[in-house]
Amino acid sequence: MQTIAERLQSAYVRIDQATDDAHRPRNSVRLLAVSKTKPVSDITQAYEAGHRLFGENYVQEGVDKIGQLQHLSDIEWHMIGPIQSNKTKLVATHFDWVQSIDRAKIARRLNDQRPDTSPPLNCCIQVNINDETSKSGVHPKQLQELVEIVESLPHLTLRGLMAIPKARMTQEEQEATLHTLEELFSEYRTKLSNFDTLSVGMSDDVEAAIQHGSTMVRIGSAIFGARD
Ligand SMILES: *Cc1c(COP(=O)(O)O)cnc(C)c1O
Repeated sequence: MQTIAERLQSAYVRIDQATDDAHRPRNSVRLLAVSKTKPVSDITQAYEAGHRLFGENYVQEGVDKIGQLQHLSDIEWHMIGPIQSNKTKLVATHFDWVQSIDRAKIARRLNDQRPDTSPPLNCCIQVNINDETSKSGVHPKQLQELVEIVESLPHLTLRGLMAIPKARMTQEEQEATLHTLEELFSEYRTKLSNFDTLSVGMSDDVEAAIQHGSTMVRIGSAIFGARD
């Protein structure tokens, strides 16, 4: 059995290799360790191995863990799951980043509920890049409108885009999907000053995502083990 520290190390090696292959600087891709369903003791192990970026999918579970790990004050907590409007206050109060903004109502509530004592909430808009009914995210055609809304909200900082490409695509479909995302990202990156994050790439597509400009990959089970 490998330890969490060893699996984390393998993930970093994999990212370094992929950035080298893509002729990109090694520090241009960040690793989000997705700790959903895993106990705080697992997060502590990753923290002790030097890791600081953690992603949670479920609001209440994430808030509980953030509370229990308050003493590890340099953890950067990312909300990456779907957000219902009755949960926005918890998200706005406790998280550093929200990657799953998919509609104006959620953005406005997060803005209104972000405490004045906290820095602006870092946000990514989730794009439903393969137009899947089962997935949340804004359709690419509606992206511009949502970008303008988030940009206008003072307690939010628009950092970029997040996507979960369809599973089991052919290599051509995967390339086309990542290419579209890369184009959308670079279009806004040149226009908006804080727009620096393309969150795409999970266990199966880290290399392809990094080839296509990903700046943040999200890995869960390869670090913490399979979920029940
Ligand atoms: C669960 C999850 C991940 C990580 O998935 P693994 O298969 O465990 O690596 C990444 N991104 C999102 C949005 C997730 O919900």
